[in-house]
Amino acid sequence: MKVPPTLSTVLGNLFKKPATNPFPESEPVPVPEGFRGKLNYDVEKCVGCRLCVMVCPAGVIEYVPEVKKVTFWLGRCVFCQQCVDVCPVNALWMSDEFLLATTDKYDDNLRWLKGEEIAELKRKLEEEKRAKEAAKKE
Ligand code: SF4
Ligand code: SF4
Repeated sequence: MKVPPTLSTVLGNLFKKPATNPFPESEPVPVPEGFRGKLNYDVEKCVGCRLCVMVCPAGVIEYVPEVKKVTFWLGRCVFCQQCVDVCPVNALWMSDEFLLATTDKYDDNLRWLKGEEIAELKRKLEEEKRAKEAAKKE
């Protein structure tokens, strides 16, 4: 009797190793170069130009006028990288982090420039302003 071609393939595969990655027992498959993972933000470099706010198609980024910086809620991010491409001072970059699952949509890991950091920046700016005014008076 002639063995059907599909059956011979199935029988051949029965004796091969499984071609799967048993994550999380093993490391995840490495990401390629240029992979677009979680967005990162360097608040020190940011000059508050708002270009990223203008190009973001998902409403992730909000300008904070008091400190001339931006905040991000990455729960909405679609990883398009347009903000990274437009930033004139390279304050934004895509990392290779992709294990972002959480039970809290406002998880700290999904936010850049949180409330307490904004308050700290405001405090610093006010201190600088006071120091400048004091220097002028002298
Ligand atoms: S990667 Fe795209 S969606 Fe995410 S914050 Fe930047 S512009 Fe917005
Ligand atoms: S584009 Fe860059 S410098 Fe401009 S507000 Fe966004 S992060 Fe800051």
